[in-house]
Amino acid sequence: MTGFAAAAAIEPHRRGGWRPVVWASAAVALLGLAACAAPRPGPVAPPPPATPPAPPVAAPAPPTSDAPLPGAMGDVAGRNERVLVYVPRDGDTLAGVATRFLGDADRAWQIADANGQRWVPAGTQPLVVPLSAGSVLDVTADGAQSVPILCYHRFGPGQGKMVVAASQFEAQLEWLARNHYRVLKLSEMAGFLAGKTALPQRSVVITIDDGYETVHRYAFPLLKKYGFPATLFVYADFVGARDALSWAQLQELAESGLVDIQAHSKSHRNLIEQATNEGDAAYRQSIEAELRLPRAALERRLGAVGVKVHHFAYPFGDANELVLETMRRQQYDLGLTVIPGGNAFFAHPLMLRRTMIYGDHSLEDFKARLQLRRNALWP
Ligand SMILES: [Zn+2]
Repeated sequence: MTGFAAAAAIEPHRRGGWRPVVWASAAVALLGLAACAAPRPGPVAPPPPATPPAPPVAAPAPPTSDAPLPGAMGDVAGRNERVLVYVPRDGDTLAGVATRFLGDADRAWQIADANGQRWVPAGTQPLVVPLSAGSVLDVTADGAQSVPILCYHRFGPGQGKMVVAASQFEAQLEWLARNHYRVLKLSEMAGFLAGKTALPQRSVVITIDDGYETVHRYAFPLLKKYGFPATLFVYADFVGARDALSWAQLQELAESGLVDIQAHSKSHRNLIEQATNEGDAAYRQSIEAELRLPRAALERRLGAVGVKVHHFAYPFGDANELVLETMRRQQYDLGLTVIPGGNAFFAHPLMLRRTMIYGDHSLEDFKARLQLRRNALWP
């Protein structure tokens, strides 16, 4: 322990290890809110913010003309810089309206969320078209938008809680598609957490840990069928072993553009458990290597197909202050735990919550785990 126990960022655990981090996002958010709400005495100028305010959401360049086009043949009843009221015609689609006014069919969700419906109303009921992504952070007094990150391991047939049957996985993907969920790339969370990017209200992220071969055999065809992206966290020592994915399979997954391959340590040791016979220097070196080597291996073997490692899933979901300090030094931008729940804008980027999906979950269990709102006071 000597040598770095005194470092401010690292706190020794009573038992001689390192204290696990359970990030008190509620407390952090409350501190932030309290600071914002505190009255400022007198005419003293407020100090400059520690970080510059986030730039407004980049709205797509306004189309040079709002001329009707197929899928958006109706009339504009009124508009200002931020919003437009549109009277649709028969045959209009949200994608058409998004193309005409937002310059991007893919932003149809922005109109759907603003109107609380996912189709163009019949007759002459007007549609509200927000011209920017609106309030970047969807926050009200009782909660904030939250993005669930799902965590899978193995796919089957096969026994055990960790094995999700292919038919069960497909039922879940089908339900997400039918209910207009947007399955995000994990990397899209970074902009959301920085307050720069608005996301559809029904957003979800799919992650898969360890790198079992069944990912390629059962999950990959289904991800392709639905066009859903996923992030695969592999630990380097496992690749090519026993029932693991091979490097060739990882390459195929990465080349598809749907599966983002990221780091899950070198050996899958529990990063917060310092062995009794492991000196502090050796422990520290091990943590350093557990974060550095998988990134080096993945980028060396798969860099040619675009793999760039920025995210890390902690084995067993566990991290402590030393691990977080190493994450920051090695410039990982997102760290993933297995603390269940969704992630609001105030989530700690290196302590993101993830919800396990197990083989014995019914579709109802699955739906119940999609937390789309979070209150800062919720544990
Ligand atoms: Zn794992």
